[in-house]
Amino acid sequence: MTAQQIYLNGEFVQKHEAKVSVYDHGYLYGDGVFEGIRVYEGNVFRLREHLVRLYESAKSILLTIPYSIEELTEIIVETVNRNHLHSGYIRLVVSRGEGNLGLDPASCPKPNIVVIAEQLALFPDELYKNGIDIVTVPTRRNRSDVLNPQIKSLNYLNNILVKIEAKLAGVQEALMLNDQGYVAEGSGDNVFIIKGNKLVTPPSSAGALEGITRNAIMELGETLGFIVEEKLFTRHDVYVADEVFLTGTAAEVIAVSKVDGRVIGTGKPGEHTNRLLKAFRQLVVEDGEKIYVKQG
Ligand code: PMP
Repeated sequence: MTAQQIYLNGEFVQKHEAKVSVYDHGYLYGDGVFEGIRVYEGNVFRLREHLVRLYESAKSILLTIPYSIEELTEIIVETVNRNHLHSGYIRLVVSRGEGNLGLDPASCPKPNIVVIAEQLALFPDELYKNGIDIVTVPTRRNRSDVLNPQIKSLNYLNNILVKIEAKLAGVQEALMLNDQGYVAEGSGDNVFIIKGNKLVTPPSSAGALEGITRNAIMELGETLGFIVEEKLFTRHDVYVADEVFLTGTAAEVIAVSKVDGRVIGTGKPGEHTNRLLKAFRQLVVEDGEKIYVKQG
């Protein structure tokens, strides 16, 4: 097996050589943007959507990415190919770059661009069979007029605090409420509830990232005959839902069996969640404009 190759500013380097300066404002201040992307059987799932989100996040923080979407697409595909990654995970990071210790990004003339393609540590099958136990936590979602959750920035402290609070409560994942007390999302996933024939997820204005998996599930939900709504809901709505699940690039679609000690539905992944997971797993290999990577 050949050693992992990481794309770093125009070169491919080995993992132990893939280093950036401690003066990078990404390191000093969380100043930068990123994406987490999946490749399934040679198909980079919805790469364009991920890249559009990256460029929009960068635009919002006045960070110029010195490549076009097409150039970055080529770089990503080449990174996947060089690592013979048939199925796995891609991490794309654009940080502000090296500067001085001041906050002003004007001291950072050149962003650092990194692409890592590697095997994904898959969630254990048990979790998909049994669902996960989650809680709501004290940390609220960043207000969109303070740090907009649509910016997928390197500043993930809000989400990290949520993860820490989940672990302190003895579970792996948690729901964040927004400053108004409405449900926003998980630490790194979107949330859906099912009640009757309605499939509901919080609107982005509630503090939910417009997840690529979320978009795909909303489309699949319509195809499968659900009434799909982006609507504000409360913890109570979650407790009394027929089914609850989380979505994200890493987790795909994962059923929630308990929230704050309240058993959801039967306490096992519901039939609709299972149908959506099945449809999603079919979609990821069949979807749209495939960007085939070479076979490893
Ligand atoms: N919310 C947050 C805060 C996230 O970090 C992620 C993962 N990128 C998601 C939701 C899910 O988004 P996606 O389906 O694009 O992975």
